[in-house]
Amino acid sequence: MNVIVVGAGLAGLTAATGLSAAGVDVTVLEARDRVGGRTHGIEVAPGRWVDAGAAYLGVRHTELISMLTGLGLRTMSTDMVGASRFDIGGGLRTVDGRFPPLNAIALGGMFDALDEVTRLVDVDEPWRTPGADVLDRLTVDKWAAEQIDHPDAATFLPLFLGEMMAADPAAVSVLHMAFYLRSGGGLRYLNAFEGGAQESRVDGGAHQISERLAAQLPHPVRLNDPVTAIHHDDNGVVVHSASGVHRADAVIVAIPPELADRIEFTPRLPHTRTSSHTARGSALKIQLVYPTPAWREHGLSGWSISADGPLLSTVDDTPAGGSPGVLTGFVTGAEAHRFSALSADEQRAAAIAQAKHVFPFLGEPVECHITDWLNDPYSVGCYAALFGPGDWTRHGPRLTTASGRVHWAGTETSTEYFGLMEGAIRSGQRVVSEVLTAHDSRSLVSEPT
Ligand SMILES: Cc1cc2nc3c(=O)[nH]c(=O)nc-3n(C[C@H](O)[C@H](O)[C@H](O)COP(=O)(O)OP(=O)(O)OC[C@H]3O[C@@H](n4cnc5c(N)ncnc54)[C@H](O)[C@@H]3O)c2cc1C
Repeated sequence: MNVIVVGAGLAGLTAATGLSAAGVDVTVLEARDRVGGRTHGIEVAPGRWVDAGAAYLGVRHTELISMLTGLGLRTMSTDMVGASRFDIGGGLRTVDGRFPPLNAIALGGMFDALDEVTRLVDVDEPWRTPGADVLDRLTVDKWAAEQIDHPDAATFLPLFLGEMMAADPAAVSVLHMAFYLRSGGGLRYLNAFEGGAQESRVDGGAHQISERLAAQLPHPVRLNDPVTAIHHDDNGVVVHSASGVHRADAVIVAIPPELADRIEFTPRLPHTRTSSHTARGSALKIQLVYPTPAWREHGLSGWSISADGPLLSTVDDTPAGGSPGVLTGFVTGAEAHRFSALSADEQRAAAIAQAKHVFPFLGEPVECHITDWLNDPYSVGCYAALFGPGDWTRHGPRLTTASGRVHWAGTETSTEYFGLMEGAIRSGQRVVSEVLTAHDSRSLVSEPT
């Protein structure tokens, strides 16, 4: 059997690895000039790397952790020692811990409301959640207007969703928000460093996972080879890419759903994977590199939250060894759209000015790296696609269902840890058994009508 995998992110490479191990002949076609997709490393000093894409993981990310171990990669704990800085009304403040200096009862009420709607969700089949129709039609901003009456909670919710999901509350359905939080282990787990989903990062950068997976495949990944069309019938698939035409028994499309919809399928697939309501997670990641992490000398963790952008949050991303000092800023949600429309010089100046405002002792950075995922043609946003009104009830039931010989993977096809590296890996594992079962039984899983 031979299989083509479209996309050399974590999902595609997990699938390629599993199928190759089962004796399947696998060709991986990748649009970019590198593997790794939404994981991407930047070398900030010789041998010192930071993550311009995905970075954080926690102990519940069991498949990722076992993959890291198998590939000989180590994790390092996310440094969060010292006080936080907040600029969210009432001036710049230094606070022990990470709880914002806002009305605690109001924020507690907001988290309770989020918890309540999160608990409702049927995480395996979100479209079967009681009241799914209503929750799927309602955007989070409208839900918040009904649920939240204190201005402090109204200020904090978009910052929280920006940080958790890179989401603008006006662009995402309540069902998707609740699903995302539940799928990732609940809002407290997702939000936590110690004991939570942000406890560790990959020493040397998460991009190494894909590089090592790709290096172990029998055939090299074909880079700079975007797939534009797929013809499929009972006899096989014909995949058209920049390098030409490739024939196989089956194809696994392991790319974000909006990009999958841009591939021309013949015959046409009975449904699309996105709608005009599907939003892009919106984030730019900015790495400001300093000779040392000077905030540590001032008793600060590097963690900050600001109500006004561009850097809505910052975190200490200094590599193991303690130098250079790297302050990573996140520009998310609606602010990401505004910021990404600026020129490169304007972006740089605004980011550096805000870092100096929040941490006044900082001088000019040695380097400033800005990674705009929103305008990246092969990601079209991040951390993941955001399902808008009607998306889960319309597309959810068919997210993973193969269409004949066309199979799907990618973090957006995983109801476990959707949007995260763990979800991507689990989707890759799921599709391996799906394809092998289809092959063994000589009958392919087909689309329900
Ligand atoms: C800034 C940022 C921060 C994040 N933070 C975290 C985090 O802290 N923790 C976490 O777990 N996750 C995080 N994520 C999410 C995580 O990166 C993704 O969930 C995961 O990497 C997705 O993997 P994937 O294989 O599903 O998709 P992708 O990584 O998007 O891989 C798809 C691949 O397909 C390629 N491709 C696209 N179109 C075509 C085509 N037509 N033909 C051929 N190839 C194509 C792309 O170039 C890409 O390489 C973050 C993401 C970003 C960008």
